Amino acid sequence: MLHSKCTLRINLDTIKNNYQLLQKKCPGAEVGAAIKANCYGLGMAKIAPLLKQLECKTFFVANSDEGIIARKMLNYDVNICVLHGVFNNDKRIFKEYKLIPVLNCIEQAILWHSFADECNEKLDCFLHIDTGMHRLGMSEQDLNIVIAKLNRLNILYIMSHLACAEEQENELNKIQLQQFTNATSNIPYIKKSLANSSGIFLGKNYHFDLTRAGAAIYGINPILNEQSGITNSLELLAPIIQIRELPPLASIGYGQTYINNTGKNCKIATIAIGYADGFLRQLSNKISVYINAAPAPVLGLISMDLTVIDVSSIAANDLFLGQQVEIMGINNTPESLATVAGTNAYEILTNLGNRFEKVYTQES
Ligand SMILES: *Cc1c(COP(=O)(O)O)cnc(C)c1O
Repeated sequence: MLHSKCTLRINLDTIKNNYQLLQKKCPGAEVGAAIKANCYGLGMAKIAPLLKQLECKTFFVANSDEGIIARKMLNYDVNICVLHGVFNNDKRIFKEYKLIPVLNCIEQAILWHSFADECNEKLDCFLHIDTGMHRLGMSEQDLNIVIAKLNRLNILYIMSHLACAEEQENELNKIQLQQFTNATSNIPYIKKSLANSSGIFLGKNYHFDLTRAGAAIYGINPILNEQSGITNSLELLAPIIQIRELPPLASIGYGQTYINNTGKNCKIATIAIGYADGFLRQLSNKISVYINAAPAPVLGLISMDLTVIDVSSIAANDLFLGQQVEIMGINNTPESLATVAGTNAYEILTNLGNRFEKVYTQES
C-alpha cells in the first residue's frame, strides 16, 4: 500500500462527448460553459482549456477571483463572464483582466456605467433580467431604463435564468420563456441567452443566441428521470486501510449506530474516505460501495476521514490492504447518491474534497 489517498478519476473524453452533444442539440446557438466552483469540483485547469479547444468562446464564473483564475488559464481570446456582477472593490480587476460583468440590478448597471465614464470608454456587459426565479436579475422596467439611458454600456447579451428547467412539464418554463420574449421583443439588435443545461433540452425555442451549460458538461443528467445521452464522467475510489472481524454484539463507529446482531462474526474493512472528502454523513448506514462490482454496505456513521464497510460477502482474493473501493462510478452515480442523501447531483460534485489524487484520463 503506497498511500491512503483516494483517487478521483475524471474522464475527459466523456466531458468532450457531453459538450459536443450539447453543441449538436443547439445548432443555431453558441454553447457557453459554466466553469464556476472550479468546474463544479472537477478542476478548471484541465477542463476549461479542453472546452476552449472545442470552440467554446464564452465562460461563466461566479466572482472576479474565479475570473482571474480562469483568465490566466484561457488567455484573452475568450469571453469570461462574472455571474455575481461587479462591485466597487473589484471594478478595476474587471478591466485589468477583461472580465465581463453580468449586471444583475440597476445599481450594478449604474456602477459599471460610471466606471466606463471615468475610463472614458464603452465597457462590455451582460444584463440579467428576472423572469420568475426571483434570485438575481433586474425588472423589465429597469432593463428599459438601462438601455435608454446608460449609453456607455456595450451590452453583449440580455440573459435570464430558468428555475425548473429539469422538470420538462413544469409550467414555469413556459411562463419564463414568455416573460423573457416579451421583455426583449423590442430590442432585437441585442443577443439573448436563457437556457442552462436543462433548458437546452426544453427545445429550440429556449436556445436564443447563447446557452449556458454547466452540469451536463460534467455528466449530470439534465432531465429528471429520463435518458438524455449525457454520461457520468467521474469515478471516485477509496483504499481499504484495515480489515478485521467484528464479533457478535460489537458496535461500529461514533454513536454505536451499527451493532452486529447477525449472531456471528462479520468481516469489516475500513476505507480512507469520510465526510471531509464529500462522502456525505447522511449516507451512513444507507448505501453500499463496490469492490469489483460487488456491494459492500456502509456500516455505522461515516466519520470525517474514515468509513467502515461490510465485506463479508466479498471474495477473499478481492480483499487486501490498498484495494480500491468504488465510492462513485458505474454503480453509484452522483444522482443515485444525491437521492439517498436528500440533495442533488450538483451538491455531490461541488462537495468533493481537495485531498484526492485527481487523475484525468483521455484517449482521443
Ligand atoms: C450555474 C449557472 C448556469 C449553469 O447551470 P447548469 O444547470 O449547471 O447547466 C447557467 N446560468 C446561470 C445564471 C448559472 O448560475
